[in-house]
Amino acid sequence: MPRRTIASEITVTGTALHAGGTVRMTLSPALPGTGVTFRRSDLGLDIPARFDRVGETNLGTVIAQGGASVGVVEHLMAAVAGAEIDDLRVILDGPEPPILDGDALSFLVLLERAGFHDEAARRQGVKVLQRVEVSHKDATAALVPSDRLEYDMEIDFPTKAIGRQSFHFVFSREGFRRDIAPARTFGFVHELETLKKMNRGNGASLDNTLAIDGNTVLNASLMRFGDEFVRHKILDAIGDMALAGARLVARFEGRRSGHGLNNALLRALFAGRANYEIINLP
Ligand SMILES: [Zn+2]
Repeated sequence: MPRRTIASEITVTGTALHAGGTVRMTLSPALPGTGVTFRRSDLGLDIPARFDRVGETNLGTVIAQGGASVGVVEHLMAAVAGAEIDDLRVILDGPEPPILDGDALSFLVLLERAGFHDEAARRQGVKVLQRVEVSHKDATAALVPSDRLEYDMEIDFPTKAIGRQSFHFVFSREGFRRDIAPARTFGFVHELETLKKMNRGNGASLDNTLAIDGNTVLNASLMRFGDEFVRHKILDAIGDMALAGARLVARFEGRRSGHGLNNALLRALFAGRANYEIINLP
C-alpha cells in the first residue's frame, strides 16, 4: 500500500467554532514521510499533528508547539484518516480549522475535490501487540490487538435526547464516508453560557452543532442518524487516533471516552516499546 497525499491545493473559508470569526484554510500536498503538519500562516509557525504535541483537550483536541496552537483538529484529522492520507499540509490564518457543517464529511469532500496522489513510498502502520487501557472516573479507552482497524464505542448521557448508545465500526473508506463522516458534533445549551464566558463556542450555531436542550434536540431536523451522537464520538476517536502519525492496526474500545482520554491512550501506547510494532501495510 503506497503513502498518499492530495493531488492539488484547495482552499475554504468558514467559522472558527470556539474563537469565532472567519478562518481561511488551505490544504496542500506534502512530501512523503512528512506526515500531517499545521501551519499558522498568521504566526509563521508549524505544528506537527502528533499526539505528543497535544496540550488542552477540554473543548476539542488542541496541538501546540513553540508558542503556536491549533484547536479542534479532530474533525479534519478524522477526514484525513478516513481518506487514508499520510502526508498533508494544513495552512490556517487563525487558531482553528473552520467548523463547516460540524462533521468530517465537509472536509472529506474537500479532500476528494483536491484529488488523491499515491506516493513512491510504502505506507506504514502501528500494530498493537498487547492491550493498553486508560481510565478516568467512569470513562475508559483501550487499544486491543486485532488484525483490522475497528472502533467500539459506548456512551451514556443523562438526557433522553441521547441516553445510552453503542456502535461498532470496522474501518473502510466507504464505510467511514457513509456511516461516520456525516455525524455532526453536539453540545448542550446549558453549557453554552459558561463557554461564552470563557470566550469559547463563539462560532457555535444551529447550523453546525446539534444543540441539546433538556431532553430535546433543538435542531433535530439536521440529524442524519438516529444514533448520531455515538457515531460522532467514533469520528472524534478516529481523529484523535490519527495523531499516532500512522494508521493503527487495532481495536479501539471506548466507554464514555473523550479527547483527554483518547490522548492519554496514545501516550500510554507509545510509552511501552512492547505495546506495538511498526509494520508495512499490505
Ligand atoms: Zn467532535
